[in-house]
Amino acid sequence: MALIEIRGLSKAFGSVKAVDGVDLDIESGEFITLLGPSGSGKTTVLRMIAGFEVPDSGTIKLNGEEITDLPPYDRDVNTVFQDYALFPHMDVITNIEYGLRVEKVAKEERRKRALEALDQVRLSGYGSRKPNQLSGGQRQRVALARALVKRPSVLLLDEPLGALDLKLRQQMQIELKELQREVGITFIFVTHDQEEALTMSDRIAVFDKGKIQQLDRPAAIYERPINEFVAGFVGVSNLIEGDAASKLLGKRGTFTVRPEKISIDSGGVASTARKAIGTIKEVEYLGPATRFNVDLEAGVRLVVLKQNTQESSQEVMSMRGKSVTLSWELESEYQVQ
Ligand code: ATP
Repeated sequence: MALIEIRGLSKAFGSVKAVDGVDLDIESGEFITLLGPSGSGKTTVLRMIAGFEVPDSGTIKLNGEEITDLPPYDRDVNTVFQDYALFPHMDVITNIEYGLRVEKVAKEERRKRALEALDQVRLSGYGSRKPNQLSGGQRQRVALARALVKRPSVLLLDEPLGALDLKLRQQMQIELKELQREVGITFIFVTHDQEEALTMSDRIAVFDKGKIQQLDRPAAIYERPINEFVAGFVGVSNLIEGDAASKLLGKRGTFTVRPEKISIDSGGVASTARKAIGTIKEVEYLGPATRFNVDLEAGVRLVVLKQNTQESSQEVMSMRGKSVTLSWELESEYQVQ
């Protein structure tokens, strides 16, 4: 039995169908990410699991018991918000203890568990600081400790890293994943950042227009996107369709090839590989790699990503305007809906 079972979940705001018939099973100990563009309904799903929003229809079960209509405080789940929601006048340890105080946990036990949680988020020694004496990353950790201290079965995280700069964000992604493994709590994580989702998740549910478009492991989502939307939203989509598909691939439909699977002018490709002639229109030097935009004779533009193992920036930049042959293995080419 799944830890969380969601069936036929729907919610409209006026004429907007925010969530439209979502079914989702979440396993115990899983790190699952709800990924999608702004307005796709992922936050509303999270809020219905938390109990902040009442669904129009559908059910949510936790541990086999229906919780759809229970108030938030009667659910064995806890939420970490993007804005941290820390009390500014309380020091860190008191902030972390707060939920336990509400639950009337004895003082000694409270302190013990709060110190444990502080240690889990690597902030031992910061207990007496006020939130405004902490960096953004540290405040984020306190918010996390405050949720962990209650030892919920499920932790809901709504874009918790959204306010951090890129470097800190990437560091926190790794730490958060490690922490989740350590504590073994089920994490349901909302983000619009595909890289973040790919890095952290056991599984990803890709949302668009209130529906789950695809639910799978990160590698499967990336390598075998089910439709055009997922192909475009998760990674750069090279879509080959219509006449271009007939000319280039000899088949009808819409196909995708990831940019890093395409080689430029490399001699040693297998005879089974696809070949396509084109002209380099744009070159973007990215440091460790270069991105080429290539217009093919078949009438489609493909993005190619190439590691800069040997080449200098001048060498790659000078390739703009050159005629090239692109090639890729047949197994890198997928049909999407
Ligand atoms: P974001 O990343 O921007 O938070 P999201 O994918 O989480 O987007 P939701 O916040 O779930 O999307 O919103 C889905 C749709 O429902 C949007 O069109 C949004 O404007 C609408 N919506 C959400 N909450 C409310 C509300 N309380 N009142 C009216 N409309 C709402």
